[in-house]
Amino acid sequence: MLEQAKKLLHTYFGYTTFRKGQEEIILNILNKQDTLGIMPTGGGKSICYQIPALMAEGVTIVISPLISLMKDQVDALHQAGIPATFINSSLDNGEIENRIYDARHGVYKLIYIAPERLESASFRSLLSTLNVSILAIDEAHCISQWGHDFRPSYRSIQYMSKELPTKPVVIALTATATKEVTADISHLLSIQESSVFVTGFKRENLLFSVIKGENKRDFVTRYVKENKSQAGIIYAATRREVNDLHAFLLKSGFAAGKYHAGLSETQRNQSQEQFLHDDLSIMVATNAFGMGINKSNVRYVLHYNLPKNIEAYYQEAGRAGRDGEPSECHILYGAQDIQLQKFLIEQTGLDPVKKVNEYEKLQQMIDYCHTEKCLQVYILEYFGEEHSGAGCGRCLHCKDTRERVDITTDAMKILSCITRMNQQFGKTLVAQVLKGSKNKRIKELRFDGLSTYGLMKQYSEKDIVSLIDFLVAEGYASLSNGQYPVLMLNEKAMSVLKGQQKVYKKEQMKTKQIVVDNALFEILRETRKSIASRDGVPPYLVFSDSTLREMSQLCPTDEKAMFNVKGVAQVKFERYGQDFLEVIRKYLAEHGENVKTIVVHQESKSNEVDESPSFIQSFKLFSSGKDINEISKDRAMSGVTIQNHIIRAITEGHEVDWERIIPEQYEDIISQKIDELGAEKLKPLKDALPSEVDYFAIKGVICKKMLKIKAT
Ligand code: ADP
Repeated sequence: MLEQAKKLLHTYFGYTTFRKGQEEIILNILNKQDTLGIMPTGGGKSICYQIPALMAEGVTIVISPLISLMKDQVDALHQAGIPATFINSSLDNGEIENRIYDARHGVYKLIYIAPERLESASFRSLLSTLNVSILAIDEAHCISQWGHDFRPSYRSIQYMSKELPTKPVVIALTATATKEVTADISHLLSIQESSVFVTGFKRENLLFSVIKGENKRDFVTRYVKENKSQAGIIYAATRREVNDLHAFLLKSGFAAGKYHAGLSETQRNQSQEQFLHDDLSIMVATNAFGMGINKSNVRYVLHYNLPKNIEAYYQEAGRAGRDGEPSECHILYGAQDIQLQKFLIEQTGLDPVKKVNEYEKLQQMIDYCHTEKCLQVYILEYFGEEHSGAGCGRCLHCKDTRERVDITTDAMKILSCITRMNQQFGKTLVAQVLKGSKNKRIKELRFDGLSTYGLMKQYSEKDIVSLIDFLVAEGYASLSNGQYPVLMLNEKAMSVLKGQQKVYKKEQMKTKQIVVDNALFEILRETRKSIASRDGVPPYLVFSDSTLREMSQLCPTDEKAMFNVKGVAQVKFERYGQDFLEVIRKYLAEHGENVKTIVVHQESKSNEVDESPSFIQSFKLFSSGKDINEISKDRAMSGVTIQNHIIRAITEGHEVDWERIIPEQYEDIISQKIDELGAEKLKPLKDALPSEVDYFAIKGVICKKMLKIKAT
């Protein structure tokens, strides 16, 4: 049975092995046991019911909470060549009946249905005319009132599963369930304990961090700039915050979309589509965005405000890196967000017991932002998962090597200024006084006569505000509620002012690129984009980022080699294989065969040992005497990438032994050809030179000439 399942996995999805948990869940379903699977986002839940669906006789009904999610799933199945459809409120009755008619005649293997449909007894009886073999419940936590997304209509699933004459096997799946919620789901769906599979909440490819005491906008600007070509979501707590940040990003020249419940459906759909199709790389949104988003190549999720609890946070953050590629999740912590979340809890109209529950969960979220232990471990413990105790090796706390700087003197200046202003003003005015601003209001209030006036004039006002933010985040001061928050000192500030306690701040967080890709990857991405627009599907449904990355590293040039790339399955190859093969062949012809075939290995992994920039790491190895081939093997990168690293290091002023790059006897002729033909294109130069002159030598001479020009 398992062999057949594996075969189908390869034929339809292009994968050779099941992931952790998938195999056990699939076997349990094939043994006709009702099953509950708890797997992290991106863990591969869909395959757990799609493979059994392909193996079963009749049709599989999938209950899915959002219309957009259904469409996405059905599109993905069509891409894989699997007949599927959906039934929801976007269709009229006639169309629904047509689809049921087709279903009765065995046209589909899977039908996606919105839970609200099941509330209608007539629709349920329509369903009972089908040969339903499996009933899959996606986002199964929605059935529990303790879950963070309780959907009353999910309760109708119980009636439905009892009413179906075929007695289908039930499989419930979710990414987020505390022990309490797990027990609730099992109870409501009568699933035995031995059929509950928890594959672990760990996300091996995600880096978690909390950014404190920094100006949020500055951080976001630096971050999105550094990761310009990557897709990311920035969650903010309110519509207003979304609007402001979105406007700010547009003004700063970034391609960003926005999404919140206050926009019209057309506006929301439009920005969602643009994001899915890679036309916009940044999506600024409230938590209204995302449940229906299966986009697999989201490389980062930033939380501009504190999330309401860990479950919500982990689900939102988990939208990064569903394809298993390295991705990042940062929370931009600001103490004032706690007030906002408390206000939102008060607005919910929940009964007092549930409110207390919400406050407790909020406190655990706040603790996450202040803990010094591994952030992934904190989350695992929250969900009650046993773990080895070892840190993840990726998160803020596991990786933080930043220096702690003593800022006691500046902290004293700020805290004492707040005292002298009678704890009655906000941070901007405090910063202006410290800066020594000639602002009219300061004169009127006579703050220019304070001993702290102009005490920090060497700083910019913005930097002073950042330091104040830091002191608030660390609990030395706090901000009052209301529209014009006022700075007040906390107990902790007193010991600083008395000189009994020192204040340390870590250096500014360095933003860096999440992944560094080679040039072929970028070209393949362009190809994918144009195919996707031609076929009207989102690019990640053509091939995922991880598939393209592997293609760019293995450089397959024929059908057989192409099938070795993870994610290339039969139907997809028939549709797109030749397009991509052509691009790769062309690339190799232009860049020579020194683009090595390298097994996948993330550059960021090798970064764990050496913290210097990637190109410097390559350069160091080159200087130590290794040749391009050796470095390329060591670092699991293509030869071309390594050559480019070395050239870049030289351009940035590092000394090199030129003879290792340019064979002496050829230097003159290469130089002469460059003068004749120009240095814009390498291929014509390569063609005009003796065949033993390689691209590295040509690039070397170009670089040497450039340096000479610079020097004169
Ligand atoms: P979830 O619903 O759990 O968030 P998905 O079902 O969307 O996750 O799967 C996430 C990604 O992982 C998809 O791109 C999917 O194709 C991929 N995937 C699933 N199973 C495997 C597997 N066995 N090998 C490799 N990739 C897989």
